[in-house]
Amino acid sequence: MSVAEIIVDVPTMQTNRPFEYEIPDSLAEVVVAGMRVEVPFGRGKRKIQGFVMKVKDKSDFQGKLKPITRVIDLKPVLSDEMLKLSYWLADQTYSFQISCLQTMLPSVMRAKYQQFVIPIVKDDPEVQALLSNQDSLEITSSLDDQTIRLINKLRKNNKVDIQYVVKNKAVQVKRQAVTTDLNVIQLHEAKSKLRANASSQIKLLAFLADHLQELPIEYNVLEKDYGISRSAIKTAEKNGLLKTTEVTKLRKPVGITPEQTTKLALTSEQQVAVDEISQAITEESAQTFLIEGVTGSGKTEVYLQTIEKALQQDKTALMLVPEISLTPQMVNRVVGRFGDQVAVLHSGLSNGERYDEWTRIENHEVKVVVGARSAVFAPLDKIGLIIIDEEHEASYKQDDNPRYHARDVALWRAKVNKCPVVLGSATPSLESRARAEKGVYHLIRMKKRINNQTLPHVQIVDMRDSENSAVKGDFSPVLQTSIQETLDNHDQAIILLNRRGYSSFMMCRECGFVLKCPNCDVSLTYHKDLRRMKCHYCGHEESVPNMCPNCHSKKIGFYGTGTQNIEQQLNDLFPQARVLRMDVDTTRRKDAHAKILQQFGQHKADILLGTQMIAKGLDFPDVTLVGVINADTTLSLSDYRASERTFQLLTQVSGRAGRAQKTGHVVIQTFNPDHYAIKDAAKQDYETFFKQEMYLRHQSNYTPYYFTTLISVANQDEGQTLKQAYWLKKQLQTALSKDAILLGPSPTMISRKQNKYYYQIIVKYKHEPKLHERLLEILNETQADAKKGFTIAIDNEPQHID
Ligand code: ADP
Ligand code: ZN
Ligand code: ZN
Repeated sequence: MSVAEIIVDVPTMQTNRPFEYEIPDSLAEVVVAGMRVEVPFGRGKRKIQGFVMKVKDKSDFQGKLKPITRVIDLKPVLSDEMLKLSYWLADQTYSFQISCLQTMLPSVMRAKYQQFVIPIVKDDPEVQALLSNQDSLEITSSLDDQTIRLINKLRKNNKVDIQYVVKNKAVQVKRQAVTTDLNVIQLHEAKSKLRANASSQIKLLAFLADHLQELPIEYNVLEKDYGISRSAIKTAEKNGLLKTTEVTKLRKPVGITPEQTTKLALTSEQQVAVDEISQAITEESAQTFLIEGVTGSGKTEVYLQTIEKALQQDKTALMLVPEISLTPQMVNRVVGRFGDQVAVLHSGLSNGERYDEWTRIENHEVKVVVGARSAVFAPLDKIGLIIIDEEHEASYKQDDNPRYHARDVALWRAKVNKCPVVLGSATPSLESRARAEKGVYHLIRMKKRINNQTLPHVQIVDMRDSENSAVKGDFSPVLQTSIQETLDNHDQAIILLNRRGYSSFMMCRECGFVLKCPNCDVSLTYHKDLRRMKCHYCGHEESVPNMCPNCHSKKIGFYGTGTQNIEQQLNDLFPQARVLRMDVDTTRRKDAHAKILQQFGQHKADILLGTQMIAKGLDFPDVTLVGVINADTTLSLSDYRASERTFQLLTQVSGRAGRAQKTGHVVIQTFNPDHYAIKDAAKQDYETFFKQEMYLRHQSNYTPYYFTTLISVANQDEGQTLKQAYWLKKQLQTALSKDAILLGPSPTMISRKQNKYYYQIIVKYKHEPKLHERLLEILNETQADAKKGFTIAIDNEPQHID
């Protein structure tokens, strides 16, 4: 008898370990690690799903094991590497292993789906018997074990395959298409019989005669690419000259098919980077490289040529980019170089599209995967290189359970696959740059722009100046003049409105003063429900001021302007300019991003106005001006990373100007012209910023000098929540040395969400060997409370504290 170790789908602390089940003889050989099965659980007849982690010969357990009821998958859905990763991930993120396993699967496998057996070798007698002359066989729970065994055997011999289909959604999209029974001669004959003025029919028949080999052709293609109208098709159909049919179209996730590109001759800085990384690929060394390369230094070409290196050695490559739909340019560059060998994974894909791409990866049809955060779980094997572009981006950390950072997962996979990791950015995160300082990462600096183009000239405009604040509206005279010049030269401008969604901090419009916490040096946030200003770190609170404490002006208020408002101002100031707006409202539709960027790239607009989403990765040669309306928004976040985020944003967006032949110009409007984050960004001087910021982090015991863990508690009753939070704090204290810093409990940014109150505790520490264990124990001990509606979340190295 063999035994399976199974993680069951019961997300509780008590069930967060493998359980042993007997593999019935009828399913011997069928059940393997990485498959999902159905098992009985608990005392009743409840059947639940579980992941097979391991298959072994015998159990150490003395009593009788319950048997597996049936298999859910007929082939493993997770590789050994992924199973192993799930142990580590669950431990690191304080999550249930079952959540980790499920996170690694493509969503189609978590949704409601059907499974079918699809024949590969159609004339095999066993296949024919199994399918009884049908196209496919649905796998349901009613199939007996003997059939399951047969399917398994045929699958192993590559005679059948298993396909997942999302319920109510066909795996393949059906499209209307045109075909004909007539041959070339008949088509020409029919054409000659038409009246001379039936021009659209003549065109259609001529087209069909020329493209007979390619039929059926989709309606859409005929319309879009060949200008043949639907009514022309209908008329021809009525006259019996053609037929309408359906074709199944393979989905292609990338909207625009990019042009094929070839290797560029590298600059000397690029060459150094490519050489060092290539060597690590060849030597199968799990080193981490940090490329600190100024904007426009050509990091992408380094990525592409090192990926090529990995492919030459018969390995695969994984490339992560921040939420991909935001950077279609990057995807196009990779697909342009490696064509069909690339799979693209991002959240904009439908379940079916995601499944298609996932299958292509699993079947070894692709060698390169480009994707956003969760693509780090792509089922690639023999990985030769992992790249994380814009490595400083907060979106690489998942906000929900499991709260993993893609960079950490990448480093784990690199170790297992024995391959290098390349982190790239013009503005590396402080953590990564500090690790490079210590020699943990290998630093590669690229200081020059391609073509030796100079970095853009940056002008800081002091918005406290009466000249600027006197102007009605948000555009200073300097910025107005610059925009006018850009329009006169027929160049293009990018205008950034730095927005945070909510205007919860207070700023004085007269002097730029921001109300801050006296203890923590972060801005206080307004709590609507309490009508008070609060600090999210230490809990300090005070009343809402009606006068600026600094200059006594009454112009202190909540800060924030909308993109629509700015667009209106642009239209009023420059009625002749063509403005494209890019924000959450204009990009809700799928592909909207790509379309706006394409239009701008074709110079169909003069000004691109947008929020943070326009700050990164764009490479348009005609952009000579970048204007930043309100540099201060990010600076006033109630987060110790506020300066870092501001520096990153301003450096990145400035880097959009003057990337090709023309020199760039940047105008930054701010109430804090002397702030180091703004001054260093203006000079694109990462190193100076890094030193200053490290000094301040050191002074105030923040990352990367201290580790941070955030623990939050929520409950419907505020008193109970607080009580629980204080209990938690006491529990933590017992495990911590006197060197650790414990802050809170304090209410979170929105202290009440969906009728639950949220409180948080922050632990800052350097070396606390007992903390991890203690947190796991706390999770265990609070399980019973979870039933009473308490939720406890633990976030290691949080990206936002709010
Ligand atoms: P970064 O990501 O570092 O900001 P990019 O990779 O976007 O910079 O490169 C900036 C521009 O320079 C792109 O248009 C790119 O095609 C071009 N480029 C990169 N490397 C070379 C090269 N070796 N020769 C010529 N042009 C290059
Ligand atoms: Zn505080
Ligand atoms: Zn003031």
